[in-house]
Amino acid sequence: MTSTGEIWRNWGRTEKAKPIRVERPRTASAVQRAVVAAAGSGIPIKAVGASHSFSGIAAPAGVLLELDDLTGLIDVDERERLATFSAGTRLRDIPRLLARHGLAMENLGDIDSQSIAGAISTGTHGTGAAFRGLAAQVAGATLVTGTGEIMRVDAGSNPELLPAVALSLGALGILVDVTVRCVPAFDLAAVEKPERLDDVLDTLDERVARADHFEFYWFPHTETALTKTNTRMPSGAARRPLPPVKRWLDDTVVSNGLFRVTCGLGSAVPAVTPTVNRLADKLTGNREFTDASHLVFTTKRTVRFAEMEYALPAEHVAAALREVKELIDRSGWTVSFPVEVRFAASDDLWMSTATGRETGYIAVHRYARESPAEYFRAVEAIMRGLAGRPHWGKMHWRDAESLRESYPRFDDFAAVRDRLDPARLFRNAYLDRVLGP
Ligand SMILES: Cc1cc2nc3c(=O)[nH]c(=O)nc-3n(C[C@H](O)[C@H](O)[C@H](O)COP(=O)(O)OP(=O)(O)OC[C@H]3O[C@@H](n4cnc5c(N)ncnc54)[C@H](O)[C@@H]3O)c2cc1C
Repeated sequence: MTSTGEIWRNWGRTEKAKPIRVERPRTASAVQRAVVAAAGSGIPIKAVGASHSFSGIAAPAGVLLELDDLTGLIDVDERERLATFSAGTRLRDIPRLLARHGLAMENLGDIDSQSIAGAISTGTHGTGAAFRGLAAQVAGATLVTGTGEIMRVDAGSNPELLPAVALSLGALGILVDVTVRCVPAFDLAAVEKPERLDDVLDTLDERVARADHFEFYWFPHTETALTKTNTRMPSGAARRPLPPVKRWLDDTVVSNGLFRVTCGLGSAVPAVTPTVNRLADKLTGNREFTDASHLVFTTKRTVRFAEMEYALPAEHVAAALREVKELIDRSGWTVSFPVEVRFAASDDLWMSTATGRETGYIAVHRYARESPAEYFRAVEAIMRGLAGRPHWGKMHWRDAESLRESYPRFDDFAAVRDRLDPARLFRNAYLDRVLGP
């Protein structure tokens, strides 16, 4: 929570800004009043969710709207499986809100701290070749536009705007609620194990095609990939959850605690990182369990890091990862955080990183106390050579001119921005860079 006069910072500590003032609206009308007031005094205004973006996409250039008081389930249509949430609702609260309706989100990313509005606005995704990102699950939304209008966008109202509004980079208005197409609640069976990286890369296409949700982590300076394969279970299948102590040990002590120690050690004495990564790849992984989908999809991340993630045509992923491995081997850098590889189905949202193509994601991370720029920029050069698109909520150095080439509907999105935010009330330095002024 940020108060007026305080500095706003994002989770990864890669961005900060001093908002002119901070407001915490509780209703759509209060959001509208804040937007009209900002417009009247010519001050930009920006909503933040959980401030979990690593890029400057959420950095306020004027008024900061914190939406932690605009949360909760507004309405459920059980027959159509549509649930409408206030925009500030955190993903972690959604399973509880949907439980009595027997519904769940179709897919999720690694964590559940984000707000629903923030997650869809940056194209947050999980993994699974047949499953699209969270924004593609959006069936409707209500927003306050830059002209102060409260506008509904769904199949019945302004439907032509949905492919822009569902994934808007926060550039088209302040979302006050979001309607999500859900699925019947389901369990996932998880198999996590360390395997040889070469074996994984040689058989990547079939693993991705065969599994509902396949992903892997590669620990730099090792030959090991930690694979995670999740299978959607038919209803009524037996649950085999991790015992609470084992979950705590794995997630809190081994994954995060070990990481905290190893990253701290690696940043003080870089030479130990390769040894430590070999230890990490032995201690993590190798477990099988079945549990409610949200408990399997998401984990806790308590060690802060910086991240860049690129979306590639899925067929380029194995080659791209081999290039990243060669880069790290030849550079002499010591990289303590793993590289994460995931997949998603093609969608038709104009600014989605998966728009129009089956997609694979490669994410690189760096411990918060280490400078990520040299490593990330070198990886970005590899990804650009393979038609990569950067995650909007993660670090990158691309600008509007180069991004226009990557997105066939870039100019259509710009035209909607001209219509909904003609005075650029929602602008900040990041949007100036990636969309143009
Ligand atoms: C530890 C960690 C793990 C992560 N894991 C994943 C992952 O698995 N997959 C993935 O794809 N990403 C992942 N991310 C990235 C994250 O999902 C995105 O950056 C997401 O946008 C964060 O949501 P937020 O609520 O924090 O949004 P913020 O960062 O607060 O905001 C993001 C954008 O949304 C806009 N916004 C927020 N609320 C509104 C609103 N009401 N109306 C209009 N615009 C709004 C902001 O203005 C900004 O433009 C991860 C990030 C972290 C820190």
